[in-house]
Amino acid sequence: MAELTFTPVIGIEIHIRLKSDTKIFCSCSTNPDSEPNTNICPVCMGLPGTLPRLNHKVVEQGMRAGLALNCGIRPKSLFFRKSYFYPDLPKGHQISQCDLPITTEGFIEVHDENGNLKKIRVHHLHLEEDVGSLHHSASDGRLEGAATSYVDYNRSGMPLAEIVSEPDVSSAKEAVEYVTTLRRRVIYSGASDVELEKGMMRFDANVSMKCSDGRWGRKVEVKNMNSFKALERAIEFEIKRQRKMMLNGEEVKQETRHWNDAKGVTTASRTKEFYRKFIVEPDLPPLHISQEEIDAVKAKMPEMPDVKANRYVNELNIPREVADVITDDKNLAAYFEECLKFDANPVRISHWVRTEVLRVLNETQKKISDFTITPENLAKLVSRVDEGKLSTTQGKEVFDYMFKNNSGIDEAIKNLGITEGGVAGNALNEIIQNILKENPDVLEEIKSGKDKKGKKLKFLQGLVMKETKGQAKPQEVAAAIEEAVK
Ligand SMILES: [Zn+2]
Repeated sequence: MAELTFTPVIGIEIHIRLKSDTKIFCSCSTNPDSEPNTNICPVCMGLPGTLPRLNHKVVEQGMRAGLALNCGIRPKSLFFRKSYFYPDLPKGHQISQCDLPITTEGFIEVHDENGNLKKIRVHHLHLEEDVGSLHHSASDGRLEGAATSYVDYNRSGMPLAEIVSEPDVSSAKEAVEYVTTLRRRVIYSGASDVELEKGMMRFDANVSMKCSDGRWGRKVEVKNMNSFKALERAIEFEIKRQRKMMLNGEEVKQETRHWNDAKGVTTASRTKEFYRKFIVEPDLPPLHISQEEIDAVKAKMPEMPDVKANRYVNELNIPREVADVITDDKNLAAYFEECLKFDANPVRISHWVRTEVLRVLNETQKKISDFTITPENLAKLVSRVDEGKLSTTQGKEVFDYMFKNNSGIDEAIKNLGITEGGVAGNALNEIIQNILKENPDVLEEIKSGKDKKGKKLKFLQGLVMKETKGQAKPQEVAAAIEEAVK
């Protein structure tokens, strides 16, 4: 009997907090660092008699995020009420565009297991409000023996985009590339900074398995992943779990499971889905977006990071790995492109950015926005190293000096006492004398006239060139050595 094979079928839902100073339906602050329950008002607390008012900044950010995912923008969309009861939702319903969202379908490209590009279709992106956050702790003594739960409504009404993919993802690795690429695109678009450590991106995954014998497992929804690593581990766990069940002839039930990051397992959720009833939100009019508004946002969209990386590879001949690293950070890519305006070789500049610039930023825990070497100075430095006016070692010294002292290139060269144009004169003679001292037997052979073919002289020349890192002129080196061995 042929061995059974299994194909994972995975869809991903992502919540991203959109960048806006105020919440989606009121003017409360979205500052994530505020004290609990300080950014609240009757609207986001859901008090009776209050009315939501749509924040148009959030609409614009939703359009940016949608365009970044190759989605179309719908001229008319609606808000709905998703009703359920939970302590994090005081008004008893969440306002969401779930059924008629602001965008139509889009896609993100990832690499499949053979390294080929594959489209993951995005079903849509919709706008919605976040709910409050619950914090559970052990008993604080007020109720004997009981654990205590606190609720913070600062998050209630924070603007979210929910992005729903089609079930086109086939592995945990593809899932991670999908969310990584998507996050980078959204950051480039300006719709959100998507700071993972501040909980600005959360994931749910729908995982099912297709068996080569024709069986299909039911869809399992896995919730509660807050990092790329958690998403990857949760999907890997579910694939293994469902595969094992199907190999044992068990039926995979449709259910919701929670990812437990500490234990590295998913567990069946005891809570049922409460909401099923959607009604059109009676307190908000339909959202209309004109073609002019869409065109205006489109015109402001920057080149997307993966498109940029491909351009670096195809047009500037930059290695893929270097292109990916530079475009990973929008500001680093902007810095690199500024350098290109000063006429240095793009490949050489890219290597300096990839190695030296990232090295000092990493060592000093700084961002590229705090980097003190101007693009012009870096471009000049790279050109001078390329032209042989500075050795690579000297170039790095100049680089470190400019970075530490916030100086220009000429000042750095002057203050370091470097003579441009290579090693010559006394410096060269000093190097030759040292090499002769280290190779007394070679010197003896030359002096005794045994080196008739000049092989030993060539050998010494090689050592000197190596020591000067190629920064001396070969004819000058040859002449100086002949003089020195006389
Ligand atoms: Zn409010």
